Amino acid sequence: MKTIKDMDLTNKKVIIRCDFNVPIKDGIIKDDTRIKAALPTIQYCIDKNAKIILLSHLGRIKEQSDLEKNNLKPIAKRLEELINKKVKFIDKTRGKELENAIDTMKNQEIILIQNTRYEDLEGKKESSNDEELGKYWASLGDIFINDAFGTIHRAHASNVGIATYLPSAFGFLIEKELTALNILENPDHPFVVILGGAKVADKIGVIENLVTKADKILIGGGMAFTFLKAEGYEIGTSLLDKENIEFCTTMLKKYPNKIILPVDIAIANEYSNNEPYRTKDINEIEYNEMGLDIGPKTEKLFKENIKDAKLVIWNGPLGVYEFEQYKQATHHLLNYIVENKIKTILGGGDIVAAATDAKVKDKVYHASTGGGATLEYLEGKKLPGIEAIK
Ligand code: AMP
Repeated sequence: MKTIKDMDLTNKKVIIRCDFNVPIKDGIIKDDTRIKAALPTIQYCIDKNAKIILLSHLGRIKEQSDLEKNNLKPIAKRLEELINKKVKFIDKTRGKELENAIDTMKNQEIILIQNTRYEDLEGKKESSNDEELGKYWASLGDIFINDAFGTIHRAHASNVGIATYLPSAFGFLIEKELTALNILENPDHPFVVILGGAKVADKIGVIENLVTKADKILIGGGMAFTFLKAEGYEIGTSLLDKENIEFCTTMLKKYPNKIILPVDIAIANEYSNNEPYRTKDINEIEYNEMGLDIGPKTEKLFKENIKDAKLVIWNGPLGVYEFEQYKQATHHLLNYIVENKIKTILGGGDIVAAATDAKVKDKVYHASTGGGATLEYLEGKKLPGIEAIK
């Protein structure tokens, strides 16, 4: 893996693709975690006496009215405070003003250009990896560093486009993500996969890619009910992914000892946090009941299955974790992993959010925050942002 440490940055104009896609309301940044996460790569470039040009997308730009709410200007100000250095904001994505500012840069100076997706307003140039745009941005610098993991599964002008025309490498954030996720290429055994979340449809690629590598796949969350249906159980009004019952039947037939399903369920009559729930074995579910979390027997079963694991990858919560009473099993299992120091990678937004809520996110081996990027990695897909740098 080619990283920023392999590059000679001194006196060079270094373009860094950051992920400053932070929540902003009325010009106020609600969570600056992603800005803080970008600091090590930026600081490294300062220490190496480079000239630093930062690019990022923010939100989506479809029409004129999307521009102002997705203006990157507040990021420049916050970054300035965090890095304790002037950050010059250029309210343009191309043109003379930008070019002049870059031409007159001194070493250690920082420029942040306007939201790369402003280029999407006419002709979706950024998101369709417009060749001319990628080439133009590349012409502004000497070296390209990609440090935006969240968009690595997309071929955009600001990642793949620039990387096509400049010597390129990964920043520290992407290096950390890929180092952790690359373990899955050749995992230590027993290797256990935990899958939860809503729909089977969203996880088919992950199941197909990991089922041959894993020793066990533990299935909870809404998706467990399509598997239970495939086994012939009454699942009441629980989440059902009708189109994929057959896929579940095939998987269960092919891997009968590998796929572990819930044996009991926390159940209620409605999708709500207020109605008291009860716990039932899976053969006791009635036609008007809805499964919203795994039960205590299943929790125990899952713990037994990960107890001796050398590696666990977990995607998707085991219940409706947004509701206090149905986040219990997910929290218990997360705590079990941390207490027993089981090497675990959490992949995907919801399970990482659950781990943050359970205050264990920083105690697990790795929490991969890439969302769509992480999921596509787990599906075994080749990711354009990685390929472009390879
Ligand atoms: P995903 O994005 O596929 O990981 O799905 C996460 C979502 O799955 C969360 O919003 C959970 O509320 C939902 N979920 C988990 N368990 C269930 C369940 N038993 N019934 C309905 N939704 C569930």
